[in-house]
Amino acid sequence: MIRARLNPASHLEIQPKSVAKTTVGVLLPLPLAGAYDYKLPPGITAPRGTVVSAPLGNREMLGVVWGAAEGVVGDNRLKVAVPLDGRPRLPEKLCNFIDWVADYTLNPPGAILAMALRSRGAFEPEAKRTAYVRGSVTPPRMSAARVRTLEIAGDGLARSVTGLAEDANVSGAVVRGLITAGALIPTELPEFASFKKPDAGFAVPQLNGDQAAAAKTLRDAVTDQKFSAHLLDGVTGSGKTEVYFEAIAEALKQDKQVMILLPEIALTVQFLERFAARFGVRPAEWHSDLSQKERRRTYRAVMNGEARVIVGARSSLFLPFCELGLIIADEEHEQAFKQQDGAIYHARDMAVVRARIENFPVVLASATPSLESFVNASQGRYSHLKLVSRHGVAEMPEVRLIDLRRSVDDGSHTLAGRDGPDVEKKAQWLSPPLRTALEKTLAAGEQAMLFLNRRGYAPLTLCEACGHKFTCPHCSAWLVEHKYKKRLACHQCGYELPMPNTCPQCNETGTLIPCGPGVERVAEEFAAFFPTARFAIASSDTMHGPAETQAAIRAMAKREIDVLIGTQIVAKGHHFPQLTLVGVVDADLGGSDGDVRARERTFQLLHQVSGRAGRAEKPGLVLLQTRNPEDAVMQALAMGDRDGFYEQERTYREAYAAPPYGRLAALVISGYDGEAVRDIARQLGKAAPNARDVKVWGPTPAFYALLRGQTRERLLVQAAKSVDVQAYLKAWLAIIKVPASVRVAVDVDPVSFF
Ligand code: ADP
Ligand code: ZN
Repeated sequence: MIRARLNPASHLEIQPKSVAKTTVGVLLPLPLAGAYDYKLPPGITAPRGTVVSAPLGNREMLGVVWGAAEGVVGDNRLKVAVPLDGRPRLPEKLCNFIDWVADYTLNPPGAILAMALRSRGAFEPEAKRTAYVRGSVTPPRMSAARVRTLEIAGDGLARSVTGLAEDANVSGAVVRGLITAGALIPTELPEFASFKKPDAGFAVPQLNGDQAAAAKTLRDAVTDQKFSAHLLDGVTGSGKTEVYFEAIAEALKQDKQVMILLPEIALTVQFLERFAARFGVRPAEWHSDLSQKERRRTYRAVMNGEARVIVGARSSLFLPFCELGLIIADEEHEQAFKQQDGAIYHARDMAVVRARIENFPVVLASATPSLESFVNASQGRYSHLKLVSRHGVAEMPEVRLIDLRRSVDDGSHTLAGRDGPDVEKKAQWLSPPLRTALEKTLAAGEQAMLFLNRRGYAPLTLCEACGHKFTCPHCSAWLVEHKYKKRLACHQCGYELPMPNTCPQCNETGTLIPCGPGVERVAEEFAAFFPTARFAIASSDTMHGPAETQAAIRAMAKREIDVLIGTQIVAKGHHFPQLTLVGVVDADLGGSDGDVRARERTFQLLHQVSGRAGRAEKPGLVLLQTRNPEDAVMQALAMGDRDGFYEQERTYREAYAAPPYGRLAALVISGYDGEAVRDIARQLGKAAPNARDVKVWGPTPAFYALLRGQTRERLLVQAAKSVDVQAYLKAWLAIIKVPASVRVAVDVDPVSFF
């Protein structure tokens, strides 16, 4: 109709053919080019977002009505897409968000949709389970077992067949007989209890001055119901969580849903309890540990509004909230927000986009903001809410550097140190000043933490006789010894083998030596020096699984242990009031990645770890063992000059037009056929279009040139801020035909360069 009116020459109202109404573009959750045309069943209209069942080849898939049909295929050849029962619909704003993310990240929209769509079951009413209660009939033949069963069932509680059989100590057959006889009648129960609504007024804290000011800004922003972004920038322990809880309370009062993004699931146990202490109930959770059933249930509850607050990892970003009014991204600087596999995207950045599209505020919280957010806040694009001191009497800890070049015991402080029988020989990783500090802390009945960002026992195993190094057959990576498990493991792909005695290259026995420390080895040395101290290892790996890690953290919180020895999993978020000493075993680790963010990341990590010390009345001490004490990062940490570090880093990035003053995008070319991968990488390198203010680097082998059996090459695009990088990449990628055996992944705004 509209088309007819637009044509002034046409006086006749041309009725649109019925096809125009009943064909639609359906987006399938697959990495295909775009939406496909389908017919709708006769007489049915389906707006954008409608979830349909659509045939593809000989499969029936879930898809989503995305827009008008393209109309290139004749109507009679189109297959029929059928809306699901009850016509479930993804919110239109979510569809717009998916399109935006796809455009920005150069992923096919279907690949983004795949993260927003669950299985069919999520769109069906919740499954019920059948349970039985006492009916009015009493069967003529009553055995003792039957009497007992009906007596138990008479308490009014609905039970399953097995549940009742167990409670009455009878067989299932007895129960089933009573059902047939009509003495027990079925009743339907929901599979899960419903999500309870958090109570904004459950336990309202008394905020201090800074906190109250920040909370007011956030509450006003929530009430405004307009887009705004806020950097909640406060030292560890300053009460950032308390402050954004006030924003959540306001959103609850406004009947809005809230999404809290956390970088790691490991954080959530303490977090859930803390949330419950403030709001009376736990929030709903969303992460990879949920069962399929729990996911369906949560997805449904988010979509129908039953779940008001969701806390989760980055994938929560694509949930179909019906009344979303606030997003919080805590520890916003964390790299874990960047999804590196499949569709590559940054959940923190995309959270800001979702808030803008849906028009509500977003809060980014951190004690060590990303430089991007810091600059956004300094330039006024985000409000900058600062909490400058710790809450209550707690002070920031004192940070001291231990120069490892001087503080070496007896020359045994070498990389390839060997396990000797006597303790002195073993003094390799804990320098005398650190040991002295540990002694004092333990004598005072306080707690300590030893931090080393390396899992396992030793990062490299070497044959002393022939120099053979154990490497992964599938990755360009060393195998890491895990002593508890007596295995060597690849941390990239999970490849494992039992710890050998014999060198596979020279066949010598007893010549294999561990090189360098992992947390297990630090723990071993600690135990040798402090045989009576109680300690535990917390490490994010398969050897010490999440349960063990959680147990270690709980034990620390309950003071059942004195010392927690851990990897970066202990660096963040935890609050241990009696922890007064933090020892960083190797502060230089990670400083030499050679990417633009290496310094920023080292600073953030060490600052976070340091922030664990002295969070209550007793002052904290942090000892950083380093071989580069004059390095700017170490100096900034020692002087407590965070903003000085940021200023320096900002200037440096500006000078080199590095993010956020310039743009980066990476192409990662990978595949099992190494020659084909290198060939495509070369072709891409040659084909890179010339454009103003764009430089292309590479191809070069990636840091992990081999990963899970795949060869990897990289190209890096560096462009001025004004350049439309997406358009550049699209034009470039259109030139080269990539065979199916090679994958070209686009990483816009890369944060890691592996
Ligand atoms: P951050 O998130 O900035 O690291 P937290 O919100 O975890 O800081 O606060 C640190 C500790 O201080 C927590 O135990 C918290 O409950 C407590 N705290 C912070 N602000 C207040 C307040 N206004 N009243 C009571 N306790 C507070
Ligand atoms: Zn491997």
